[in-house]
Amino acid sequence: MGKLKGSTVILISMGFALIFGLAANIITTRYGFKQEYLVLEKFVIAPIGDVFMKLLLVAIVPIVFLAIAGGIMELGQDKAKLKRVSIKAGAYYFFSTLFAVIIGVGLAYLINPGLTGSSTEHIALKQHAQTVSMIDILVNMFPKNIFASLTEGNMLQIMVFAIFFGIAIVAMGGKESTRVKELVHYFTSVMIEMIKIIMKFAPVGVFCLLVKAVATQGYSTIIGLALYVLTILAGLVLHCILVYAPMLIFAVKMNPFTFIKNIGEVAAVAFATSSSKAALSISMEVTEKRFGVTREMVRFLIPLGASINMNGTAIMQGVGTIFISQIYNVDLSFPMLCTIVFTAIFTSAGAAGVPSGGTIMLTSILLMVGIPAEGIALIMGVDRALDMCRTVVNISGDIICAVAVAKSEGAVTKIHC
Ligand code: ASP
Repeated sequence: MGKLKGSTVILISMGFALIFGLAANIITTRYGFKQEYLVLEKFVIAPIGDVFMKLLLVAIVPIVFLAIAGGIMELGQDKAKLKRVSIKAGAYYFFSTLFAVIIGVGLAYLINPGLTGSSTEHIALKQHAQTVSMIDILVNMFPKNIFASLTEGNMLQIMVFAIFFGIAIVAMGGKESTRVKELVHYFTSVMIEMIKIIMKFAPVGVFCLLVKAVATQGYSTIIGLALYVLTILAGLVLHCILVYAPMLIFAVKMNPFTFIKNIGEVAAVAFATSSSKAALSISMEVTEKRFGVTREMVRFLIPLGASINMNGTAIMQGVGTIFISQIYNVDLSFPMLCTIVFTAIFTSAGAAGVPSGGTIMLTSILLMVGIPAEGIALIMGVDRALDMCRTVVNISGDIICAVAVAKSEGAVTKIHC
């Protein structure tokens, strides 16, 4: 990754992917070259995209574990500081997510995307249905078998275990703890090197992932749900203007455009992979190298944010719930709206940072307030495109929070942007 010069190359590859994907969509749908394209997709585009995605994900479980445990160990040298940082980040996550859901629900009521009568197609998608209450989400955060959590890639459980692991090392103190700390550092360095190697393939990987998404989706589904899409996009933009920009200007003292300029590479990866998890390591690199946040802060705050701070997802869940309730003519009372807002805070936090992770969690909200869960099928067609955008918003929030908290702790060294 060197000095992050790869960002230009990735952006160029994204541009080509959009052109190529749209061209593929047009020739397959209008000129009957579907078979030819499908062969290309099956044997070249999909495998390369999948391998890139897998390479990113395989490194993530160890990185999250090592990063959080390592971050706590470092911060734990100053226990009061660890407590302060956790409280500040926790408050930021809670309020920014609350704001995000309110923006989503408010905009959905303003625009009424489900009252256009255009979306009538009902596809059964019951396999996605799952009832998860807030209590379930909280209880399920605690692992009972860490090896099961590791093999399942259950990030929340791995995170909780890493937090306890880090705290235990700090509590243990003495020579032993120093040795474990060194071990954690060595392993972390190995994983970071591995990510650097994987990122060399990013331009090709991002190209293939995007081509596949654009070629298979095309425009048709998007037109039918245009209003829903517009509502979410408006919500994402509004959130950036009302929450992110003031945070940058007042808490970080940074021009929002400087911020945007410097997250190009990580935004491109988040956009192409639709996965905060996949973008995690680059997020860490950018927060440290570009924004000058100290390594201990980065290691603690970025994985934590990538796992539980998903503002873009919260916006989608707010809009999605109202949209589906309008389609199914379900009247929502004020207490039900409050339940939706509160539940979305947890379901967005509990969503896995993978493509459509937040959409699957949306079913819990629907079931909780008695909206037919199969309504989720209505939005699945446009989900991928929206997921790309909200994932960028998700990871931006993590970086902003990390820089703001670090700044308030005097843990921002030289800013390189
Ligand atoms: N794809 C999103 C992420 O990884 C989660 C979601 O909203 O589906 O951040």
